[in-house]
Amino acid sequence: MDYFTVPHENTAAALVAWYRENARELPWRKDVTPYRVWVSEIMLQQTRVEAVKPYYHRFLATFPDVFSLACADDELLHKMWEGLGYYNRVRNMKKCAQRVVAEFDGQFPKEPAVLQTLPGIGSYTAGAVAAIAYGVPAPAVDGNVLRVLARLTDCNADISQTAVRKDAEKTIMQIIPRDAVSAFTQSLFELGAMICLPGSDAKCDRCPVAAYCLAKKNTTSALLPVHSAKPERKKEQKTVFLLREDGMYLLHKRPDKGLLAGLWEFPNVNGHIDEAQAIVQARKWGFDPLRVQSLPTAVHIFTHKEWHMQAFLMDGNFTAALNGVKADVREMKEVYALPSAFAAYRSIACGED
Ligand code: SF4
Repeated sequence: MDYFTVPHENTAAALVAWYRENARELPWRKDVTPYRVWVSEIMLQQTRVEAVKPYYHRFLATFPDVFSLACADDELLHKMWEGLGYYNRVRNMKKCAQRVVAEFDGQFPKEPAVLQTLPGIGSYTAGAVAAIAYGVPAPAVDGNVLRVLARLTDCNADISQTAVRKDAEKTIMQIIPRDAVSAFTQSLFELGAMICLPGSDAKCDRCPVAAYCLAKKNTTSALLPVHSAKPERKKEQKTVFLLREDGMYLLHKRPDKGLLAGLWEFPNVNGHIDEAQAIVQARKWGFDPLRVQSLPTAVHIFTHKEWHMQAFLMDGNFTAALNGVKADVREMKEVYALPSAFAAYRSIACGED
């Protein structure tokens, strides 16, 4: 079924010309290689451009190519990613790099269908790498592109439906100019990021394709795109422990599977418990608290759940073998990757609060 009408025949040329004049200078737009495009695209999933920039520079300085990433130390890899969240992304990057080295002589394949067989590479990332790095016509359809396309064609189909997304990919393939694949692909990203903003924030007066846009003509842009409501996130309560002895804090390693797999964390239990219960719990971990302080609450939002955290800072002594490591402030900053779920308490521990 066709959900999107094909945009006006001048649309693609107008977008390419606008992009060439107005594209922002971004680090991954210089010295374009498949590796660099891929790294930037994975980082940009769920993260803003400005937040990604320092991570991108640091990551490339540490892992300049697919070979160095393929043999990366896991602890260092997690540390490089600390704060970006969704750590599965970086674990898949290493697996993907290993496959590219082992099966493709270190060269990312050009074909989107082959790219999609690699770990962590879906239809969007495959399209972006193929189109931007190799100039291979391929659709790279993310939320920004869907919004632009839905508005250009005044389409009110639900963009969370797979069939609608597939039709968007088909429509992009119909209009992608074969002599400007990379510029066209990035022009859609750029338009969605800078001009065709969500809700009622679209800057139609500055839009290079306003003359061809059906949503502008029909004054429907603020209503588009249509997507079904997401299910409500599950709320979980946690009590977090900062157990300190001589300026060193206990860190636990999370299980190898599940949420935040394999990362370090402050010890914690499910539920909100009171101070007396917290002292009993600390003793179970082999820690004898001498002084207990209640810390501010914090909330961390994941895609499908929220952690509502309370915490105790306890000074005392470790009396038994540790289930974990003791880390000082420098080690928490430089060695152990603590996910951003614990950022509020890490700041307190590191004296940054
Ligand atoms: S005219 Fe407005 S709604 Fe249409 S594509 Fe441009 S910014 Fe988006």
